[in-house]
Amino acid sequence: MTNPNHQLADVLREVTAGMQNAIADGFRSRMIDADDLVEVLLAIADRLDPPVRNEVDAAFACPECGERDSDRLVHEADDLVRCSSCGITFDPAAR
Ligand SMILES: [Zn+2]
Repeated sequence: MTNPNHQLADVLREVTAGMQNAIADGFRSRMIDADDLVEVLLAIADRLDPPVRNEVDAAFACPECGERDSDRLVHEADDLVRCSSCGITFDPAAR
């Protein structure tokens, strides 16, 4: 028998694991603010109901979580990119 909450539980575990990894690696603070909450809720919604995605090439995906949605890979100063899914900042040219 299929548990209808199974997919939701998996998505919550997946997003939580991404947050825990980002905290453990020092890429995300333990202090949560409204922006963090919005990101987490959107990450859950996106995994449950993926929007039409504008994906970057696999070579430019987030090295932490594999995110390829260009809307979730935010360009910052010094040519760095911040992944809105797991919170890390990385240099896409460094690989
Ligand atoms: Zn990521």
